[in-house]
Amino acid sequence: MPREGIEPSWGYPRTILSRVRLPVPPPRLIVTLVTAYFNHLETVLSKGGPSCTVYVVMACIIAVVNQKGGVGKTTTAINLGSYLASNGKFVLLVDLDPQSNATSGLGIDSRDLEVGTYEILLGEKSLRDVIIPTQVEGLKLAPSTQALAGAAVDLVDMDRREHRLSDALLEVRNDFDYIIIDCPPSLGLLTINGLVAVDKVLIPVQAEYYALEGLSQLLRTIGMVRQALKPELEILGAVLTMYDGRNRLSTDVMAELHRFFPDRVFKSVIPRNVRLAEAPSFGRPIMEYDPWSKGAKAYERLAKEILDLEHSF
Ligand code: ATP
Ligand code: MG
Repeated sequence: MPREGIEPSWGYPRTILSRVRLPVPPPRLIVTLVTAYFNHLETVLSKGGPSCTVYVVMACIIAVVNQKGGVGKTTTAINLGSYLASNGKFVLLVDLDPQSNATSGLGIDSRDLEVGTYEILLGEKSLRDVIIPTQVEGLKLAPSTQALAGAAVDLVDMDRREHRLSDALLEVRNDFDYIIIDCPPSLGLLTINGLVAVDKVLIPVQAEYYALEGLSQLLRTIGMVRQALKPELEILGAVLTMYDGRNRLSTDVMAELHRFFPDRVFKSVIPRNVRLAEAPSFGRPIMEYDPWSKGAKAYERLAKEILDLEHSF
């Protein structure tokens, strides 16, 4: 005789779980579900087998732009790129500056290179021929060489002269999660090629007296590119660099920047940090040179902030 309280009855399985009294669906429901499953299977097979959805990864392309020199564009491009890569993203850094600072900052001597972004812009090489690995896993580089200094002149009479980088990037756009373009300190044809090639613009602004001077000109240029060449172009945001909290000027510039770019200033602020200034002379990103420095932590936070925005891209 089954004991009182655990008496098995129809609808409850005779298992140790019978104490829990899990309901078993009525037989008619089971038959309906099984029939539906086989009907579905038949439909799938009649269409030639199961199908799957293929998601194509398209890189988010970001240009680091400010025609003002020495504001931290290259430092931002290298360190943002390496922290995005350390977060598991495939990243390509494109050095679009004849000074080749992004190239040397990653420990590569441009004098040893035969090809670079110049040959890409001229259509003499494809990006895949030019891209090289870096010491950072997941971060690749399209280096620049001195030849790039002549590009602005050589491109003037070429077809689609503003679209040449954009056209070249099409080939590798699906190979990366992020493509970051380090632009030169001018609003010439190289920077225009950078702007036309990207989805978003990241503007480093140095916390100093004349910081905002020139930003109106930059916004006008972005507006013109949007109107004539790339309607989808957006401003990702401005990031304050070389910030010194002890200095009244730095805090004033921060307040001004928020007025200039409402809702478009990154919370992560890059401090003035000697380790960030030293790292390029060792050819290393800050992540490897001194990962515990304040500069490293700031760029790590900036990368996280950008990754958090990813879902809105
Ligand atoms: P350019 O316009 O010439 O391309 P840039 O805008 O790319 O310059 P960087 O080369 O990144 O600027 O930085 C200019 C100088 O300032 C470099 O020597 C760099 O090491 C240093 N630097 C950049 N950011 C910081 C920082 N947060 N703290 C201290 N030094 C910095
Ligand atoms: Mg630079």
